[in-house]
Amino acid sequence: MKFSNLVSAPVVNYVRDISLREGDVQRRLREETEERTGGRSVMISSPEQQQLIQLLLKLYGAKKCIEVGVFTGYSALCVALAIPDDGKIVALDVSEEWTSIGKPYWKEAGVEHKVDLRIAPATETLAELIKTEAGTYDYAFIDADKSNYDTYYESCLKLVRKGGLIALDNMFRGGNVLDESIVDEDTVTIRNLNKKIKNDDRVDIAVATIADGVTFVRVK
Ligand code: CA
Repeated sequence: MKFSNLVSAPVVNYVRDISLREGDVQRRLREETEERTGGRSVMISSPEQQQLIQLLLKLYGAKKCIEVGVFTGYSALCVALAIPDDGKIVALDVSEEWTSIGKPYWKEAGVEHKVDLRIAPATETLAELIKTEAGTYDYAFIDADKSNYDTYYESCLKLVRKGGLIALDNMFRGGNVLDESIVDEDTVTIRNLNKKIKNDDRVDIAVATIADGVTFVRVK
């Protein structure tokens, strides 16, 4: 199991001990992902982070959700479990291979009907959705290729209604955003986006030091 270097493993384990209510299907999907992906398992969302998001979604009764970056479908499963039976999550990814790992678990958990998987470049799908569904989503989760994060953020601002929530994952880049000498495209994009959102009057903001940093914004 991998941990962010920003939160120590004993603390993460303690948090999980005292709070994690991950169901059996969720746990098995997470374990299969960790087994099958080796070094890439760091890409799976942390269970305590997803549990926090589930709590938020239930608090304001989110129903219509979108996810940019599915990977093996763990976060989509968590969202689908948290929203009502007539809710839906549009899940965007380019990989048939990785997303196919999650499908049997969505079915087993009884939430398959809520997940609308779209395999295509997310920028294209988002542009299509904005034409007909702007301002209709309650929640968006951004967890895909980092160099496009600003584009995804702007697209989700169009799709999410006033009062809705956007969560952006990996906003610490394993701590790389703190070190100005690190100037790869992904890190620079995230560092600049962090600065931009701080002063973005279109949203309320809170950053949680959970997992690899998650930024929550509420659309004004
Ligand atoms: Ca992530």
